[in-house]
Amino acid sequence: MVLTVLPSAAETDLIRSQLSEAFDAVVITSTLTLSGAVDRVAAGGIDIVLLGLDLPDSSGLSTFQRMFDCAPDLPIVVMVDREGEDLALRAISQGCQGFLTRFEIGPKQLRRSIVASVERQRALRTIRRDAERYSLAINGTSDGLWDWDLESDAVFYSARWNGLMGLPERDVVAGPYHWFDRVHPDDLSGLKDMLIEHLSGNARHFEHEYRVRGTGGDYLWVLSRGLVVRNLGGETRRIAGSMTDITERKLAEKLLAFGALHDELTGLANRTLFKDRLAVALKTMKRQSGPPFGVLFLDLDRFKRVNDTFGHSVGDRLLVEISRRLETFLRPGDTLARLGGDEFGILVADAPSVSDALHVAERVQERLRLPFAVDDRTLEVSASIGIALSATGYDEPEEILHDADVAMYRAKAAGRGQTQVFDPLMHRSAVALMRLEGELRHAVDHDEFVMYYQPVVSFDRGRVVGFEALVRWNHPERGLLQPGQFFAIAEESGLANAIGWWAMEDACRQLVEWHRRFPENPTLWVSVNISDRLFMQADMVSRARAILADTGLDPATLRLEFREEVVVRHAEQAIAKLEELRRLGIRLAVDDFGSGLSHLSFLQSFRYDTLKIDPSYINALGGDAPTMIETILSMADGFGIGVIAEGVETADQADRLRRLRCPEGQGFWFARPVMPTDAEHLIVNTPEWWAMGGQAH
Ligand code: C2E
Ligand code: MG
Ligand code: MG
Repeated sequence: MVLTVLPSAAETDLIRSQLSEAFDAVVITSTLTLSGAVDRVAAGGIDIVLLGLDLPDSSGLSTFQRMFDCAPDLPIVVMVDREGEDLALRAISQGCQGFLTRFEIGPKQLRRSIVASVERQRALRTIRRDAERYSLAINGTSDGLWDWDLESDAVFYSARWNGLMGLPERDVVAGPYHWFDRVHPDDLSGLKDMLIEHLSGNARHFEHEYRVRGTGGDYLWVLSRGLVVRNLGGETRRIAGSMTDITERKLAEKLLAFGALHDELTGLANRTLFKDRLAVALKTMKRQSGPPFGVLFLDLDRFKRVNDTFGHSVGDRLLVEISRRLETFLRPGDTLARLGGDEFGILVADAPSVSDALHVAERVQERLRLPFAVDDRTLEVSASIGIALSATGYDEPEEILHDADVAMYRAKAAGRGQTQVFDPLMHRSAVALMRLEGELRHAVDHDEFVMYYQPVVSFDRGRVVGFEALVRWNHPERGLLQPGQFFAIAEESGLANAIGWWAMEDACRQLVEWHRRFPENPTLWVSVNISDRLFMQADMVSRARAILADTGLDPATLRLEFREEVVVRHAEQAIAKLEELRRLGIRLAVDDFGSGLSHLSFLQSFRYDTLKIDPSYINALGGDAPTMIETILSMADGFGIGVIAEGVETADQADRLRRLRCPEGQGFWFARPVMPTDAEHLIVNTPEWWAMGGQAH
């Protein structure tokens, strides 16, 4: 049934008669108004709508839009005046199926247009249904899917694919690096080889098992399958496929193999076998009153340095050399195991007293101090050793190993090359705290910190202008920890500065790399938080200078964030320091501005480059805050200081700030702090924040 919606009875009659001429049997229904048409469509049975745009109750493009909203699946042909053709083309771009010029139509043309529109709409429906089916299939499978367009090098990764990697579960289009960056370094070339084999036609299928980094930095085993799509000329256009988590299967396979009990590199017992031996020793001691034994937990000091400086293969050979030397201490019944990267365990079979175990530890320390020769290099090594004694009374191997481990952390805390015996009288909470502190120390030694980056966006341009670097601790067991979870202990144990310096250096290196990779963005800056304690460190300025020299970063693109308190409290000394930093060319920002009391006069003491308005003001934007923020903005403007609104969480806040002409903003509404690879994405494809905001209103 054809529905005509034309502004006058005369025009309606004309079209009705032409329709009757054009089709043998046609049912026509007519209305003169949009509201009439909406009712008519809702009643059902309509196959196509001939719609005039200027009706008594609606005019222009919105007539089409409203009709289309009511009946997105119906073909709509709009009727326009000759001058209205531009309008008709816009309607077509929004889903209209065709247009006719009023009073210039004959029955034949009417017939052609109607038949074509109905067919087009039917084809569109089929495509849409296929797309829905495809998306159901994607969402229904537990496999991740990927689809790589080889011409543009853009890869579609399904939500599940990202979920497997521990990323937010949503579809993503990104470069191949999004995938390859997560592949275990040892498996990457194998994976690429297999892809090339298939792409070049040597292998009929692409199918490969390898490891990828998932949540919290752990690796999982995956199986990827794929097939290339060629065009008629046989050229490869796309390759698409799946990714399945096979970690459990791999684990089972591994446990079955004998190798599961030995360390591949050194051939020593591994942790599983070591615990097994501990269990046997505990049982023998209890049942047959066998001799008490000792457990030495040994962790090499700063072993990561060796890997970083000389490469992994030198590190590996050094581990083998160390294993060989440690083996010379073994007596029958002792077990030496490699427990992890640079950790070893020694079960000393016969150690009735502390001094027996200490004696072994001392000999180990002595012998480790003698230099090692790897290739033509001479390497120095020391280890921290923790001791636990079975005489203390343990039931499970894990318990004694754990205490030896805790003692080792204590030894680490005392400096390099130390030995510590676990003291059963230690209070439990002290152990926990010490453990965290020990772990933190270990983390500093082993580079367990990672930098996350949160973009700062210019309200004016809607673009990322810089990033705040925010440190995270990638804890081996507890996953990613926020500064709030460890900074207090870091401060207490004197480790905060080491972390702070690491943060500055890492952020500078990252920015140098970004400047190199995105040369079109030379003014992209990064801002680093400086704790009060770090700021007051005597050699603060010279170390900052050294980092700039080492990394080669343009100082003008580095910002340091201080809290106003530190400046207020140490007035003259602090100002002098700020001036020195300024002379290095570094930009200076006041963090959490407005959270203190003294901020107004404070601004006259030194010319900062940027104020970061405390999130509490942004939070209160509905109430009195606008006046406060306006005051800060106009003051800052007067002083020639930039302003960043921190903690922007909603579209409404963003919009208000924009209207207050706040220059820059940062907050969850734009983006949470993200990993560098994701930050790169934001640099390359700044999202349409304002378009998103528009929708939210
Ligand atoms: P900050 O300098 O004020 O950093 C901003 C904090 O606010 C970050 O928390 C960030 O994740 C969070 N944030 C950003 N946007 C929003 C939002 O819209 N809503 C809410 N609720 N929060 C938002 P994070 O990463 O946990 O850091 C906390 C604090 O730890 C930082 O506060 C900073 O003072 C300190 N910190 C972080 N990294 C470092 C570092 O490398 N060195 C030093 N010294 N301190 C650091
Ligand atoms: Mg900050
Ligand atoms: Mg802040």
